[in-house]
Amino acid sequence: MTSHNQELFDQSQKLIPGGVNSPVRAFKSVGGTPLFFKRGKGAYVWDADDKQYIDYVNSWGPMIVGHCHPEVVKAVQAAAAEGLGFGAPTAAELEIAETLCKILPSLEMVRLVSSGTEATMTAIRLARGFTGRSRIIKFEGCYHGHSDGLLVKAGSGALTFGQPSSSGVPAEIAALTTVLDYNDAAGLEKAFAEYGNEIAAVIVEPVAGNMNLILPKREFLDAMRKLCTKHGAVLILDEVMSGFRVGLQGAHGHYGIKPDLITLGKVMGGGLPAAAFGGRRDIMQCLAPLGAVYQAGTLSGNPVAVAAGLTTLKLVQALGFYDRLTQLAKQMTEGLTAVAKKHGIPFSAQSIGSMFGLYFSATAPTSYAEVMASDKAAFNRFFHAMLAEGVYLAPSAFEAGFVSAAHSDADIAATIAAADKVFAAWK
Ligand SMILES: *Cc1c(COP(=O)(O)O)cnc(C)c1O
Repeated sequence: MTSHNQELFDQSQKLIPGGVNSPVRAFKSVGGTPLFFKRGKGAYVWDADDKQYIDYVNSWGPMIVGHCHPEVVKAVQAAAAEGLGFGAPTAAELEIAETLCKILPSLEMVRLVSSGTEATMTAIRLARGFTGRSRIIKFEGCYHGHSDGLLVKAGSGALTFGQPSSSGVPAEIAALTTVLDYNDAAGLEKAFAEYGNEIAAVIVEPVAGNMNLILPKREFLDAMRKLCTKHGAVLILDEVMSGFRVGLQGAHGHYGIKPDLITLGKVMGGGLPAAAFGGRRDIMQCLAPLGAVYQAGTLSGNPVAVAAGLTTLKLVQALGFYDRLTQLAKQMTEGLTAVAKKHGIPFSAQSIGSMFGLYFSATAPTSYAEVMASDKAAFNRFFHAMLAEGVYLAPSAFEAGFVSAAHSDADIAATIAAADKVFAAWK
């Protein structure tokens, strides 16, 4: 039987570099042929061969109410019927700004963009314009989109200049980014002691979800806030993934840490391209047309995307919404841990809100180095075996997973049963 996935992939590779429009979709990390999806409904997706999967990727985060939630689809259809875009302000943009600022009190002002990459890129420019400084600090393993200054890895010594992690990023640009270790408060302290007056911003995922799932240490978050305040640097919490995922008020609400700027995306677009950045009024007022920091977007605040986002944001505010997701993710990680233990497989798992991490290591990692030390080959084997059982996990050992409100207890139980079967045949 010929696989439609394979046929589509073969054809796509002729026209689209690597056959995909975003690299991790290519299954390069896990090997094999990527799935082409044709439909999603609730907790499930169907591939080009009509095989059904329980979906824990959720479009990389946005689908927190499940695929094709009837209210979201209805709102999108209604907005589309009124006009696909105007390039002029609409009442719905005001409404989503009010909604965001009401849910997240740290947002005194907010601007809409179309992707997380735009949000973080602009937040950095804004921090530089506001402080008049050039240098930024990021942490190894955190992903903040694909703009030049954020595609940087650590140099040989943590305090040396960053090196480009992508061809095409000028070394001169990368040199303005210092890369430190996640959860290393002492390293951050040292960097600020050496050149605190040059630092425009610290940007961080307050819960790291792009190197599998790494939880922040309390002292790390506290040091970040304290040092930024002391040295006049802007603290940018990149909540593109964790926002409306870890809880209604994101990771900063969960941990009670006050940002200067926040970046949002994924869930706030409800599956369509809407993202945002915002925060302190004095900083946001530096933005054009009020201030001298330029930023613009033809599609910013697109009415169809805003309709999807607004409806999703309405649904996540339902009473008990995050309690149930938190409970579901716990059921999942505890169940998987138990079956791995039963079969004597070194494995650990943890969750926060609706995000979870699975690790082929005896304990959950707390740093990039520890994640890298986990057994990637074991994950890849697990990934493909689970796929065969109809469970779609992110195709990489270095991505977080997501549960949605559409997942039922039975879906979680079926996932654990699948893992039990996979681990039983592991030897
Ligand atoms: C996904 C992500 C981004 C980039 O968002 P895009 O919409 O893919 O450009 C930025 N930061 C974090 C933390 C993300 O998870």
